[in-house]
Amino acid sequence: MEEVKLSEDEIIENEFQTLLSEYLASNHRKKVEIIERAYKFAKQAHQGILRQSGEPYILHPIAVARIACKEIGLGSTSICAALLHDVAEDTEYTIEDIERLFGKKIAQLVDGLTKIAGGIFGDKASEQAENFRKLLLTMSEDIRVILIKMADRLHNMRTLSSLPQKKQYKIAGETLYIYAPLAHRLGLFSIKSELEDLSFKYESPKIYEEISQKIAESEEIRQKAFKTFSLPIVKRMDERGIKYEIKARIKSVYSIWKKMDAKNIPFEEVYDLYAVRIIFDPKRDEDEKRECWEIYSIITDIYRLHPDRIRDWVSRPKANGYQALHVTVMGSDGNWVEVQIRSRKMDEIAERGFAAHWKYKTGDNNDNENYEENELDIWLKTIKEILESPEPNALDFLDTIKLNLYASEIFVFTPKGEIKTLPKDATALDFAFTLHSDVGYHCIAAKVNHKLVPLSQKLQSGDQVEILTSKSQHPKQEWINFVTTAKSKTRLINALRKERKIVSTAGEEIYKKFAEEHKINPDDLSMLDKIMNHFGVVRKEELFYLMGNNDITLDDGTLKAISEKRPNIIFKYLKKPFTSLTPSKLSDTRNKEDEEDEKSFIDRTSTFVIRPEEENKRYNIAPCCNPVPGDDVLGYVNDNETVTIHKIACPVALRLKSSFGERLVVARWKEAKAAKPSLVSIEISGIDTRGILNQITTQINNLGTVDIRSINMEAKDGLFYGKIGLTVHSVQSITEICNNLKKIKEVKSATRINQAKTDK
Ligand code: MN
Repeated sequence: MEEVKLSEDEIIENEFQTLLSEYLASNHRKKVEIIERAYKFAKQAHQGILRQSGEPYILHPIAVARIACKEIGLGSTSICAALLHDVAEDTEYTIEDIERLFGKKIAQLVDGLTKIAGGIFGDKASEQAENFRKLLLTMSEDIRVILIKMADRLHNMRTLSSLPQKKQYKIAGETLYIYAPLAHRLGLFSIKSELEDLSFKYESPKIYEEISQKIAESEEIRQKAFKTFSLPIVKRMDERGIKYEIKARIKSVYSIWKKMDAKNIPFEEVYDLYAVRIIFDPKRDEDEKRECWEIYSIITDIYRLHPDRIRDWVSRPKANGYQALHVTVMGSDGNWVEVQIRSRKMDEIAERGFAAHWKYKTGDNNDNENYEENELDIWLKTIKEILESPEPNALDFLDTIKLNLYASEIFVFTPKGEIKTLPKDATALDFAFTLHSDVGYHCIAAKVNHKLVPLSQKLQSGDQVEILTSKSQHPKQEWINFVTTAKSKTRLINALRKERKIVSTAGEEIYKKFAEEHKINPDDLSMLDKIMNHFGVVRKEELFYLMGNNDITLDDGTLKAISEKRPNIIFKYLKKPFTSLTPSKLSDTRNKEDEEDEKSFIDRTSTFVIRPEEENKRYNIAPCCNPVPGDDVLGYVNDNETVTIHKIACPVALRLKSSFGERLVVARWKEAKAAKPSLVSIEISGIDTRGILNQITTQINNLGTVDIRSINMEAKDGLFYGKIGLTVHSVQSITEICNNLKKIKEVKSATRINQAKTDK
């Protein structure tokens, strides 16, 4: 058969017709005319412009509109906005033009999309936070903006291969850092998985390829197991006349890898590679909940139930709208299998998010209680609140919001029986802040199910919680360690900052008085610098705070020590600073003046080859993730033109990727094995028996090429936990050691950990 070659115009027209027919197949009102007009206008506006891939530009907005329509379930207003989303940004037409031609609503959406068109991450952290703030603000004004943005991002990710590798890194990093969690929060499950998989594919192509291949290779076995498992279920469901679909759903490549990485296990040991999904058409809409439980009882009649793994999101949906009944049962081959039971409508919501639910809301069943939308509203309100309380540290701000994105929920009760939703792992203190910020500031303890517990107590679903307060109580610095929600964290930080300010103002007064008494000019910065140096404090505010708190006292001895340049070794840093490790802090440590002279520029466009044997190293190994030869890595170019090597999966690297994309270089090891060994740590735990330590060291020594540098073991209640410091030459040896250790019967886990953890 001869292939018909289509002209560019025909391709474009075909794509648009597909969009139209997908739209007409949806449940929305049929407003074709305005969509056609938007298409023609956008096509004309982008005329002659090409994408990086060489395709006509208009194909991109059409693709975005198709995703918005078919995969998210949005209607004509959003489809028009999607078609027009790059017009104001890239062409000479303005928002006013769009408003004149298409009305206010569409223009507002396009305006929102234009404001956030530059992506979230700039080159500076401050810029990044500002962009992110903008994104959230437009989102909380009209949620459709972010939904269309999601479609835009998904299409850009699908076509990422036409961009240079460095850009790919940056965009993939940004996607994984913010868009995938947002998609999750909005309940766009399939988009979230695809975004994660695509990001992962570009960031770690080798592992991605390996896992995909293994999935394909094991397909046949999996199909067989699924068939055996589902056969008796199918039989009984048919007998009852239930209309349904049953399928095996494989985990995404990214989530398989996450599991492998977290547990340090090979692909073969990921036991829950797939779940069985049953989607049924309820006989009557009102009966869908009851029918979920009917199917549940069919399954548990056949297979043994895992009592701890029933997830009932039918009676109470997740905050992102997800509804389903999950059960885990033991198959005839002795493996646990998760079964997800959902009605057609629940499935739609699960796959396409709450936008699909809107459609149902405006459809026939108006009296449907729309719980999930309320939950989402609450979440959006929280976001607004956070936006309103200014957060000076940009990256902290991002983290705070991110806390809110991935959390899964628990439900707890007030003493009056009111239900409150909190993220998993929330503490009694979080609960206090949920009630009221004043309750949070002044709480002293909590009663969980009538039993007195500390504020750090983690809550469980179903707990009844009562908070005890006292007027004399004030927010404590250490609380920061056990608040988990963005709301309480923001409030606590603000309150602490206020308190800190009071203390450091008092400290400043003390200093002024001291300066006066000792005939020092209080504004003499060099003197202040010397004092700060002496106490190992970096910021003036910090010094004043410590003085105000009486953690530091200045006296004649201090001045004498300073003049003799004697460092203060007794004083220990008493208070932890608010901020965690941020890239800006990372770069602070690198300023060594003597390195300045030998600056030669690192070529950002080519691969940086790591040669551990080199004399004058132009790189250093990041202490946060401590990569060794063989690990997948990337490089970050410092101000002094050296490169810091991080593991690709390192959270710090993820952040760098997102915020400092311009400074990243592709890096690889010259050899998978180094001549000089590097230090790594292994965490090990298991059942404590006599001689276990000996067995462990023997296993390690058996490998020959490895040296034990430190062992730290602790036994408690019949179990042991340990950390072992080792020197190895390659990542292979670590894997080998962990595997060998796991061969010891009593050892339950052996995992490599990041260096930073062992230092503490
Ligand atoms: Mn776009």
